[in-house]
Amino acid sequence: MNYRGRFAPSPTGPLHFGSLVSALASWLDARAHRGAWLVRVEDIDGPRTVPGAAQDILATLERFGMRADEPPVWQSTQIPRYQKALEQLKAAGLVYPCGCTRKEIADSLLHAHARNTTLAYPGTCRNGLHGKPARAWRLRVPDGDAAIITFEDRWQGQQVQNLATEVGDFVLRRADDQWAYQLAVVVDDADARITHIVRGADLMDSTARQIYLQRCLDLPTPQYLHVPVVTNEHGEKLSKQNGATALDCDKPLEALSAAARHLGLNLDGGASGGTYMTLEDFYSAAIAAWSKRMSLTV
Ligand code: GLU
Repeated sequence: MNYRGRFAPSPTGPLHFGSLVSALASWLDARAHRGAWLVRVEDIDGPRTVPGAAQDILATLERFGMRADEPPVWQSTQIPRYQKALEQLKAAGLVYPCGCTRKEIADSLLHAHARNTTLAYPGTCRNGLHGKPARAWRLRVPDGDAAIITFEDRWQGQQVQNLATEVGDFVLRRADDQWAYQLAVVVDDADARITHIVRGADLMDSTARQIYLQRCLDLPTPQYLHVPVVTNEHGEKLSKQNGATALDCDKPLEALSAAARHLGLNLDGGASGGTYMTLEDFYSAAIAAWSKRMSLTV
């Protein structure tokens, strides 16, 4: 198999423990399959991108011994590809312009909630803008059984999501003129011929949308594996926004051993996992433990 995996950090701050766990899982899976591991910098969300953060993340990965097999791809250089994908969807009649403001959508969802029905986008602009200016582009999701997307997650098991009732027609091009993550990630993973996606379980909820979009664009669907997210003491996903601290680059083995423990990898044959003396020793033990845990026979 021609395995190609990737780690796709958003440069909203330095690498923290939560993102290290995702990076490590994707790296171990690629190495355990003797495949390629790529890095993509997801820097198209202008308002959230922090200057210098991408270089910082790349340097930290390097310092932690995770070197990409190809030069990193920067999403900001891929814009014409997103435009082309949107044009393809327009030509197929699968997208429509939406004039709803955030407030209008929130109000209608509030109504829906009061009626105890769906929280999905109600499809207000499906059949026209009703005189409102176009703000965003949405992908039309199917009705009925066609809206049910099922996939087998290699870690979490079978997943089912009904796009019509749980998500609704979703945005590909945002009102603030930014490309939506859902479109960019699908186009980029296909361009890079990614076969296996390994990332945090916070993105599980996006996967059905991405699979549907792959089908609309005639693209292959990779295999998915979502690792448990790291939470803070309040049970919230650890993120740069809620104060996750940058990793200590002077102690990569400590952080890597903790990340391996989070992934349930038993590295020293004992209960607690061990701290290794060299990155090489750590990785060879971690790759073996990952292969065992994922029952890989490559
Ligand atoms: N850039 C996304 C994040 O940092 C990850 C996207 C992905 O792995 O699909 O949360």
